[in-house]
Amino acid sequence: MLTKASMLTKASIYAGTSWDPVVGCDPVSEACANCIAQRRVARKARSGNPKYQGVLTEDDRWNGVVKALPENLETPSEWTSPRRVFVAGNSDLFHAGVEGDYISKVFEVMARNQKHLFFVATKRIVRAAQWFEMSPDYHYPPNLVLMATAENQRRLDERWDGLSRCPVSVRALSVEPMLGPLDLKGRRPDWVVVGQEEGLNSRPTDPDWVAAFVGQCRSLGTRMFIKPMPGVPEELGLPRELPSPCLQTPLSVRRG
Ligand code: SF4
Repeated sequence: MLTKASMLTKASIYAGTSWDPVVGCDPVSEACANCIAQRRVARKARSGNPKYQGVLTEDDRWNGVVKALPENLETPSEWTSPRRVFVAGNSDLFHAGVEGDYISKVFEVMARNQKHLFFVATKRIVRAAQWFEMSPDYHYPPNLVLMATAENQRRLDERWDGLSRCPVSVRALSVEPMLGPLDLKGRRPDWVVVGQEEGLNSRPTDPDWVAAFVGQCRSLGTRMFIKPMPGVPEELGLPRELPSPCLQTPLSVRRG
């Protein structure tokens, strides 16, 4: 059985290091109902870390404030060995509360640190596409995996267009938590991550949804990273693949 601590860090199975250039958020879709980041930030705030204070209500829910943490901007430059880095896991980098110029600074740090691989997951992929479109001459870092969350069919259909408009080398889907069956309808992401919700009030993921999705990805040649999920039969093979640009980079489990 997973411990509470392991549940809270499970998102980093494929990206061993987290980097928080921003913190704070508010719910935007069904996947947000049991926001793990909210719980993680509550723990950090309670421990007295000032960076994580001011973004939650008294009952530990997001209050809608999104704080830039410029003091964290250069943290990846301080890591000497290559890492896989999950960006803004305690926020959404493309939240409306994050200024476009600040997003540019985050991208500049990623571009300057080619030894690392950065994973950016967002539920605000339309804003991401708009941000990219407003910066047409910018040199987008090749070491970026951009992920749109697709927790159910509605969000997949709604977010695919935004993802496909983003000029990045790896367009990925974060199917986490998987809250329903998904039909890719022939659309081919470069990479998918699939996981289920855990902890208090978690909603189930039907193993048949996972099996059908794995079958689609296999037929499309999409690489997959399927997280451990009770009830999903091992016969599926449970691929733990990384997007091809990641294959050369060793996984670091150090935390920033
Ligand atoms: S977008 Fe992410 S961080 Fe923000 S509320 Fe939803 S799940 Fe939480």
